[in-house]
Amino acid sequence: MTPLEDDLPDQEQAGPSGPCWTPALRPVVVGCGPAGLFAALTLALRGIPVLLLERGKAVSERLSDVHAFWKKGTLDPESHVHFGEGGAGTFSDGKLTSRSKNLRTGWVKRVLVDMGAPSDILVDVRPHIGTDRLMEVVVRLRKRLVEMGCEVRFGARMTDLIVDRGCLAGVVANDAEEIPSDRLILAVGQSADDAYRMLLARGVALAGKPFAIGLRIEHPQEWINRIQYGRWAGHPELPPADYFLTAKIEETGRSVYSFCMCPGGLVIGCSAREGGVITNGMSRCRRDSPYANSAVVVNVRVEDFGGEGPLAGLDFRRLWEERAFQAGGGDYRAPAQSLTGFLSGRSVAIRDRGSFLPGIREADLREVLPLFVGEALRRGFEAFERKMPGFITEKATLIGVETRTSSPVRILRGEDGQSVTLKGLFPCGEGAGYAGGIISSALDGIRAAERLADSLA
Ligand SMILES: Cc1cc2nc3c(=O)[nH]c(=O)nc-3n(C[C@H](O)[C@H](O)[C@H](O)COP(=O)(O)OP(=O)(O)OC[C@H]3O[C@@H](n4cnc5c(N)ncnc54)[C@H](O)[C@@H]3O)c2cc1C
Repeated sequence: MTPLEDDLPDQEQAGPSGPCWTPALRPVVVGCGPAGLFAALTLALRGIPVLLLERGKAVSERLSDVHAFWKKGTLDPESHVHFGEGGAGTFSDGKLTSRSKNLRTGWVKRVLVDMGAPSDILVDVRPHIGTDRLMEVVVRLRKRLVEMGCEVRFGARMTDLIVDRGCLAGVVANDAEEIPSDRLILAVGQSADDAYRMLLARGVALAGKPFAIGLRIEHPQEWINRIQYGRWAGHPELPPADYFLTAKIEETGRSVYSFCMCPGGLVIGCSAREGGVITNGMSRCRRDSPYANSAVVVNVRVEDFGGEGPLAGLDFRRLWEERAFQAGGGDYRAPAQSLTGFLSGRSVAIRDRGSFLPGIREADLREVLPLFVGEALRRGFEAFERKMPGFITEKATLIGVETRTSSPVRILRGEDGQSVTLKGLFPCGEGAGYAGGIISSALDGIRAAERLADSLA
């Protein structure tokens, strides 16, 4: 018996459970990220195998597209760091931290271990998988879903919904194929702008949502170790050091905080569409790169978006991603600046060009951020220096822009987990605006699957 079956829990709180039911129309899950995969698994375990649609490619093919982007700057708009098997989490640090106290977190981790993740994620306070291991994990999970009767289709983009008298009647794939179904788990992540626009056109209730934007900062890992470990830095038993820093700017009420810190990691280009530069961080399981990076971001309110309607946040983030693209030279290199240059407003050459792929170009980063974000960052870095002396150093480089901290849109859903305007539609995960991160998205996918199963019963 595998841990997966073994752990099919009796108690409601510990993991997905419930009656088996075979619907006449197969439920569809759109999106093969953590939310979609765990939703599909939850339903399959209840005897409800689903059709999983994923616009991107399977991991092996996706990997060559992502490498082509990092090496040559050639972007495939359907296959990149955000789209494809495993979703946005595949090329990540694979940190499994979550503020949620949900007992199902343990079940999610046990499934990941069953699929090949290191078993220490079950006990570590700051569990981490690494992108190399995550790729193996998501492929095994997909194969397991197929063994359980699910069908997984790559290169299958949901382009429209079929709606009949306020209820879902089906999904259109690639503008061509109509797939009848009255239950859809929508787990498309936060980077599918086209999906949000289609939902709006179909009358699905959406709302703007606050999020955060900023920059990525990269230090030599050895420098962070020295600050955090003092004389013990370099001890072979110590992992690469990390940090978590916050600051409140009293006058404006803005928060500045480090986010998604990757010790021994890499800063990567994560463009999700042509003409935009986005940064993020990832690491391998061994966390063995000589660099430490983290996002440093400032909260953005809905009123900052400066536009009308629930999708104004998408236009807001696109604006700054396009500014970054132009400042980077228009070839997907990212604009970058030394931290000391950013703070002083003077030209200070970057000491170390760091890990970023497909490359950096020196620029004034205040040009690629809203004024209030640039100012809050400046104050925030000064506060960080007071908390962690040495943080401000000429060795540190800033790279722009970090815009995908969470979704700026929420797909409104009711207590039953369904869209408040379209019955049969179960939005979940990061793209629905109710989760952020691998674990919380997986948990939200499980919840959506349970609500869907309840609706069948
Ligand atoms: C580089 C990077 C590093 C990260 N590091 C971490 C980390 O260390 N720890 C952590 O907890 N989180 C991390 N995150 C965030 C985490 O990856 C996301 O929060 C999580 O993947 C969201 O899960 P999801 O299933 O909701 O959406 P996603 O993972 O975004 O998956 C959505 C899927 O839907 C597909 N899709 C979109 N539109 C359609 C459509 N119309 N038709 C069919 N398919 C569609 C996409 O191709 C994608 O595969 C990182 C993100 C990035 C980009």
